[in-house]
Amino acid sequence: MNILVINCGSSSLKFQLIDSDSEKVIGKGLCDRIGIEGSGITFTPEGKDKIKKEYPMPDHEAAIKYVIEALTDKDTGVVKSLEEIGAVGHRIVHGGEKFNKATLINEEVIKAIEECNDLAPLHNPANLIGVRACQKLMPETPMVAVFDTAFHQTMPKEAYLYGLPYSYYEKYKIRRYGFHGTSHDFVSHEAASMMGKDYDDCKIIVCHLGNGASVSAVKNGKCVDTSMGLTPLEGLIMGTRSGDLDPAILEFLCDKENMNIHEMLNVLNKKSGVFGLSEDFSSDFRDLEDGYNKGQENCIRAVECFCYRVVKYIGAYAAAMNGVDCIAFTAGIGENTAFVREIIMNYLGYLGIEVDKVNNKTRGESILISTKDSKVKVYSIPTNEELAIARQTLELI
Ligand code: AMP
Repeated sequence: MNILVINCGSSSLKFQLIDSDSEKVIGKGLCDRIGIEGSGITFTPEGKDKIKKEYPMPDHEAAIKYVIEALTDKDTGVVKSLEEIGAVGHRIVHGGEKFNKATLINEEVIKAIEECNDLAPLHNPANLIGVRACQKLMPETPMVAVFDTAFHQTMPKEAYLYGLPYSYYEKYKIRRYGFHGTSHDFVSHEAASMMGKDYDDCKIIVCHLGNGASVSAVKNGKCVDTSMGLTPLEGLIMGTRSGDLDPAILEFLCDKENMNIHEMLNVLNKKSGVFGLSEDFSSDFRDLEDGYNKGQENCIRAVECFCYRVVKYIGAYAAAMNGVDCIAFTAGIGENTAFVREIIMNYLGYLGIEVDKVNNKTRGESILISTKDSKVKVYSIPTNEELAIARQTLELI
């Protein structure tokens, strides 16, 4: 069966059509600048060149129409008609406490997702626009919601509660939720199988290091902690996000810089992280690596702070699980940036970890990057959130 995976942002829509038997991508693409001038679609049919077209896309419904048109085009399409698409899997960012697994979408589910909008005001409404648009154009096709937060719902209270008055949790559900759950789920399963261990009987730390970055602790098949919180701002130092900081900094800086809280949060989300630490040089690790190798102090500082924070989370999660069998690096930086992995691994001698310098040079493949006799194994594993969404969609329908 062919499964269409949709990842809908506020002005963009990424899609992949996956054959669930072979798990191959038969077509993928992106609609961007939806609702803005200059909108268009790029589409890559399997084994063929990328096709790029500009169309006016006033809304997501228009975008989905062009997605369907691209997939069914008689010359460059990959299916003959919509009937060849058996189901749609939608990435939904926030499922709050309501969803601990993927769910078949109906009106009740949409209402429950809407009730989580407060927790992800930028993402959930956009995700739902994508759901509605698909429902309109493909009314007979089953749709599944796959949540970024669901995998982390197994965290125990001591991991998800903040040290705040408990009434805020009761009244507003202020707690840690965690994100990138589909990736942590997929990569932790891959890691267990690469170790040759039973998923339900091992301790894994997953470091999802991309522009957004998070670490999770997976013990005996369940997520027991993760670094992102109520929002994706908590935890690691990221591309432009600050990660953890002393909350008193907010008032201090608002006063000193004459900012309101919204402006302050904009700084924490968009101007901080390695971008801010490198004095606005770049949030991209390819640029930072270049600067690091040239001895630029701003890049060295940003990279060292980034790595050190990851190291601290690994230590915390090894303690939380009372041990660790393996560590898996994934996402843009985790899969491709050898020097970052090496800096992090060099801190981990206390876990009996030694870097395999040859294997660690590889990019984008599942590989052991610690030496074979390292006590704790370290892997680089490409994440595949779309495939994970397609698998979960198939399972439900
Ligand atoms: P992501 O958010 O997962 O797409 O990751 C983006 C980050 O991965 C950026 O900081 C990139 O610099 C970094 N990266 C390093 N090498 C590559 C590569 N070959 N392809 C994509 N991203 C890369």
